[in-house]
Amino acid sequence: MSYLIVIIIFTAIALAVGALLGFASEKLAVKENPVVEKINEALPQIQCGQCGYVGCHQYAEAVAKNEAAISLCIPGGQSVINELAAIMGVEPVAAAAEEPEDLYAVIDEDKCIGCSKCSRACPVAAIVGGARMKHTVIEAKCTGCKLCTEVCPTECIQMNVRRQTPATWNYRISDAGWEE
Ligand code: SF4
Ligand code: SF4
Ligand code: SF4
Repeated sequence: MSYLIVIIIFTAIALAVGALLGFASEKLAVKENPVVEKINEALPQIQCGQCGYVGCHQYAEAVAKNEAAISLCIPGGQSVINELAAIMGVEPVAAAAEEPEDLYAVIDEDKCIGCSKCSRACPVAAIVGGARMKHTVIEAKCTGCKLCTEVCPTECIQMNVRRQTPATWNYRISDAGWEE
């Protein structure tokens, strides 16, 4: 009989504590700033961190507090900037210009006559090859300045676009054609 009383008392206490916690979570819940919510909804939710924040929500909070510019979401591009400007009541700014292509020079060795004009013109010593020998470009050193292409008498130097790596990848929604 005494066990039954103990169980009833503990059950009653558990129910009371549960009800109290439920009430507290309702009444004391921190309400989300509606501006943050709106900004967050306008963001692409890719969570890529290219804005400099851990994710879209963190960026939304910073924008709402005027601690971050409205133009930092690279995947969102101009359309997201326009939406954030409308929410914040400010003039839209232009999205950052597309980054120039990352180029490097490539020599067609079949056409190279070994004049060395390119290696003399290269400001970063990215071209190797002796006199009257085939020349070649060290891709990792090439800055893509194109100076070598201007001096080559056989026009055998072409500029190629360097393949992107995870470190240089800069995703834009417009790349996928998601924008209306
Ligand atoms: S750059 Fe844009 S999509 Fe990426 S985390 Fe920041 S707000 Fe989100
Ligand atoms: S593009 Fe510029 S850096 Fe590259 S090999 Fe030519 S001269 Fe050198
Ligand atoms: S300038 Fe042209 S032809 Fe002369 S070494 Fe360089 S690549 Fe070869």
